[in-house]
Amino acid sequence: MKNDFNFCPNCGGKNIQNVKMRKWLCSDCGFDLYNNVAAAVGLVIQTGDGKVLFEKRAKDPRKGFLALPGGFVDPDESAEEACIRECREELGVEPVSLKFIASFPNTYLYKGIQYKTCDIFFEAKLPENAELHAQEGEVLSVEHCFVRSEQELSELPLAFESARKTLSLWLKNR
Ligand SMILES: [Zn+2]
Repeated sequence: MKNDFNFCPNCGGKNIQNVKMRKWLCSDCGFDLYNNVAAAVGLVIQTGDGKVLFEKRAKDPRKGFLALPGGFVDPDESAEEACIRECREELGVEPVSLKFIASFPNTYLYKGIQYKTCDIFFEAKLPENAELHAQEGEVLSVEHCFVRSEQELSELPLAFESARKTLSLWLKNR
């Protein structure tokens, strides 16, 4: 996948080139555009039945696959704040605690542009007996799945490898 533009967004010239995956340079006007690594968060939430909560994605990339609740960190927001906001938006409830697990790089392909992210994962606890409301348009359904072994983890149709790596580490540290 090559991140190409046909025209420079500054001068309209045709000589803009993707030089370093995250950088474009126009040789006509000197315009530089950076698509730096984006921060994103993911939540490992254990449900009362000993399973892990996943969201079946309603949108591309990876529509229909399972993802941990979460999303991109907004401008001027901390990772922890993003966790709370995303959880509220996607599940209709705010976590009562967050504990850092790990971070892993990820690639997010959206409408022909490859975004590189740094996914930051937290273990989150929801209030007891919380009633969940899956966000329409973003989440097809909320799924509870056992993740008790590497075998079970390997059989899950996960959207992103960063979540798989995190759950593998989470399993080892339990
Ligand atoms: Zn230009």
